[in-house]
Amino acid sequence: MKEKYDVIVVGMGPGAIFMAYEMTKINKNKKVLLIEQGKRVENRVCPIEKTGKCMKCKPFCHITSGFSGAGAFSDGKLSLYNKEDEDFYVGGNLHKYVGIEETKKLIDYTDQIYLDFGADTKLEGTEHKEEVNEIKKKAKKQGLTLIDIPIRHLGTEKAHELYKKLEDYLEENKIDLKFETIVEDLIIENGVAKGVKVRSAKAQESEVEEIYGENVVIAVGRKGANWLVNMCEKHNIKTEAGVVDIGVRYELSDEVMQKINTYMYEGKFIGRPAPYGDKVRTFCQNPSGFVSSEVYDNNLTLVNGHSYKDKKSTNTNLAILVSHHFNYPFDKPIEYGRNVAKNLNELGNGNVLVQRLGDIYRGKRTWDEELKNNKIVPTLKSAVAGDITFALGYRTMTDILQFIREMDKVVEGFANPENLLYAPEIKFYSNQVVIDKNFETSIKGLYSIGDGGGMTRGLMMASASGVQMARILGSN
Ligand SMILES: Cc1cc2nc3c(=O)[nH]c(=O)nc-3n(C[C@H](O)[C@H](O)[C@H](O)COP(=O)(O)OP(=O)(O)OC[C@H]3O[C@@H](n4cnc5c(N)ncnc54)[C@H](O)[C@@H]3O)c2cc1C
Repeated sequence: MKEKYDVIVVGMGPGAIFMAYEMTKINKNKKVLLIEQGKRVENRVCPIEKTGKCMKCKPFCHITSGFSGAGAFSDGKLSLYNKEDEDFYVGGNLHKYVGIEETKKLIDYTDQIYLDFGADTKLEGTEHKEEVNEIKKKAKKQGLTLIDIPIRHLGTEKAHELYKKLEDYLEENKIDLKFETIVEDLIIENGVAKGVKVRSAKAQESEVEEIYGENVVIAVGRKGANWLVNMCEKHNIKTEAGVVDIGVRYELSDEVMQKINTYMYEGKFIGRPAPYGDKVRTFCQNPSGFVSSEVYDNNLTLVNGHSYKDKKSTNTNLAILVSHHFNYPFDKPIEYGRNVAKNLNELGNGNVLVQRLGDIYRGKRTWDEELKNNKIVPTLKSAVAGDITFALGYRTMTDILQFIREMDKVVEGFANPENLLYAPEIKFYSNQVVIDKNFETSIKGLYSIGDGGGMTRGLMMASASGVQMARILGSN
């Protein structure tokens, strides 16, 4: 008879890692297995730096898969909170399940683990309160809200080192880590989770193996959002209509963003521009950073951005994202996002498209020659000059352009014609998986944490959701 685990976790992103870490602290008797389709963190290398173009790594993109999930190549900006805030404005909805005060405590605890494993003790965005308040006032006049919260910046290369230490720690503390293994299916009998069906990612025709566990935790991140949609349909796991965030990665000079970069490191602006009133927000700002690309399911190439602690460019990049909801008769946000991405990828011959803001206003595409002579030199070398307005959708495009105009009144130069828009930047979340306050789905013994099921949207909350999951499952 095969051994049975107390807890099986699908995925090895921050949600899963912090779940396992906390379990080693509170209940060493629990047998825990983490299963990941990608590689160990030390074997994750994105070839784009050498090749200058995305090689569409098989079987999985190193940026999105492997130990530490999307966290490995992330900029590692850990979003904390202000003590006086009575709500959480970024990072997700953990507080809706565990309450505001408990979420603050969880974040403090999780932050300390990051510090123990080598995170920088310096916090960004805690000084310059007066200057930040001035910018806040200016933003308010334009109908924009500026969220300023302290940020701990790991930096891409430091994030790698930190997660390697966590990988070693988990193995030293008897957590089983199974790499390059795809969880194909869940084993569910009479409405109760019993385990998972896996196969090796190394061979296409590998045999399916069954692994049994008392509890199964889904922590598949955005990379697994599509897989999770299929699981929910197949096993009747309850979901609610979700959201898809569609937009662009915007690149402009550090000079223009100097005040925001200095005072806050990352300025999180939220608006609801006319005429649609859709929520438009800036996200993942990277001072002196680099635009990057990543490959998702069905070979979709998406744009993202990050910055290093030591290596610097002279550009700042940030995402401008529009949240789209769909209810009736169409309720498939992931499907919609995928179609937008597919069209954009086709226009870019499989690559990310880039266009100058001024060209959009002039109603023309951007040409290679123009990009070569552009004041803002693109940091993503594989991006192809073209016309994103062919595929981004009128509503999304109108929202973004109006938002940029409003931002220009807060940050002079934000609407400079030589600024660059890369697309598609899309944040896929599964349809929101319905979970209770113990993160249990409508299937007994099946839990969902992190970004994949729609509970969180960033490193800190995904990690904190893992800590809480361990406390729930480790308490008996
Ligand atoms: C380039 C980039 C920059 C980012 N920068 C920041 C930042 O600065 N700050 C911030 O807060 N957030 C940032 N993020 C987002 C952050 O990385 C995520 O919010 C976080 O990693 C979510 O954690 P998670 O554990 O929910 O899932 P993930 O980290 O996505 O991990 C999920 C894992 O599950 C695996 N998986 C999925 N399906 C299966 C399956 N069927 N079988 C086996 N394994 C599976 C995947 O391979 C993946 O490794 C960034 C993301 C990217 C890509």
